[in-house]
Amino acid sequence: MEPIKTEIVVVGAGPGGYAAAFYAADKRKKVILVEQEKRLGGVCLNRGCIPSKALLHATRMIEEAKESVNRGITFGPPQINLEKLREWKESILQKLAGGINQLAQKRGVQILHGRGHFEDSQTLRVETQEGQLFIKYDHAIVAVGSKSAMPKAFDLGNPRIMTSREALELEEIPQELLIVGGGYIGMELGTVYAALGSKVVVVEALDSILTGADPDLVRPVVNYARKAFKEVRLKTKVLKMATSGKQIKVTFDDGQGEVKEELFDRVLVSVGRVPNCADLGLANTKVELDEKGFIRTNEKQQTSDPHIYAIGDVAGGVLLAHKATKEARIAVEVLTGEESAFDQIVIPAVVFTDPEVAWCGLTEAEAKAKNISVEVVKFPWAASGRALTFDRTDGLTKLIIEPESERILGVGIVGHGAGELIGEGVVAVEMGATARDLAESVHPHPTLSETLMEAAEVFYGHATHTFVRKKSE
Ligand code: FAD
Repeated sequence: MEPIKTEIVVVGAGPGGYAAAFYAADKRKKVILVEQEKRLGGVCLNRGCIPSKALLHATRMIEEAKESVNRGITFGPPQINLEKLREWKESILQKLAGGINQLAQKRGVQILHGRGHFEDSQTLRVETQEGQLFIKYDHAIVAVGSKSAMPKAFDLGNPRIMTSREALELEEIPQELLIVGGGYIGMELGTVYAALGSKVVVVEALDSILTGADPDLVRPVVNYARKAFKEVRLKTKVLKMATSGKQIKVTFDDGQGEVKEELFDRVLVSVGRVPNCADLGLANTKVELDEKGFIRTNEKQQTSDPHIYAIGDVAGGVLLAHKATKEARIAVEVLTGEESAFDQIVIPAVVFTDPEVAWCGLTEAEAKAKNISVEVVKFPWAASGRALTFDRTDGLTKLIIEPESERILGVGIVGHGAGELIGEGVVAVEMGATARDLAESVHPHPTLSETLMEAAEVFYGHATHTFVRKKSE
């Protein structure tokens, strides 16, 4: 059979791959998008960002109903119909995936469902349900993503030991749920299951959950978890697991030399992600991998093979959907001859716990570690009228400012809806805005966005709703 010829083939249709295919088609390139699964959208749409946020929203309602007692409105205990909840979540994924299909069609992107395998630097073999076919291309963009890491000691083949993929399926609400790993995936799913009624224990080997975020931003999440979860155990390692009837026997090292065993109904392992590089045929190309198995790229998303680019999770760095989408743009721009590179680009991070944590640019901890002189200003949400109207004063907005230039180098927010608010921080840091720019921009009242403006006013010692004298005075 004659090979199909194309200018660009994109392997993997997650937020990196479909964004790359669409952008290349918008630039009038002939594009084929290869995806091994029936539904487009990758991990993000099918078993990551979207289903987790849908469940977090649904279960947040349970907590809000409980809290509304304080406002004189009382609801009865929730009746949870797991099947209905799963159907609702599924309907969102279907709508979104349908939208991606339609957009691909409108742009003339050809979609091939099958598993891609590189035969050489310019040939991709695709195993489809109808058989094999070959694609000859000028350039390939590899966007095959990542999957949950499952250490051998936990991999018993027991379905009660879950990754985020199974946990999002919501097969049941376990009574006793152990979450191994206090990163954002573990903490978000812990929030979902705790609201549904599970007794959640989170164990984290390090001395803090949500490492990467500044400790003052993490604190309100720890406070919430202490109330909503059964326990958060830091500096604790899970050594092994074994099947014990309908439960899982877990052996822990509590960090003080004591080894303990405990039984759980289910375990969620969320200890990191590994790239999907195996069986991709990369050895038949010049593509090189780094020591962790991610594809090595330069700031133009070029691999060591001049015909192959890599983007998204498989290219390492921060494993987030919007980073994948940005890299898609860079790869397409570079291979269509534009000047483009991943240079000093601000990638925000959001943890959708309760409350949410979001940050971008330089963190206070990074500034300290790198000895960068900064001034940190904070506006506590207890002083925000809007935060009081939702009973959510457990928030904080802070700016990391370069003292001489008054430039905003970083923004950190913890609180209800922090994920929505950080967008303004991204624009400020990306555009090199100064504290004065933020302080002098009129923000609508009453909104949480005012906390960004007031934090900037704190820098000048004249925030209306909090009293802080400028240090130099
Ligand atoms: P992926 O989304 O992993 O897509 C890769 C695609 O390639 C898949 O569809 C796969 O089937 C396909 N593929 C693999 N191998 C082949 C092959 N050989 N041939 C053909 N196709 C192949 N990120 C955020 O930014 N915000 C969030 O809130 C967020 N929440 C998350 C929650 C969870 C539970 C998880 C697991 C992840 C979350 N992420 C979140 C991370 C986000 O999902 C990933 O960073 C993002 O999906 C990476 O996009 P990608 O395009 O690189 O790869």
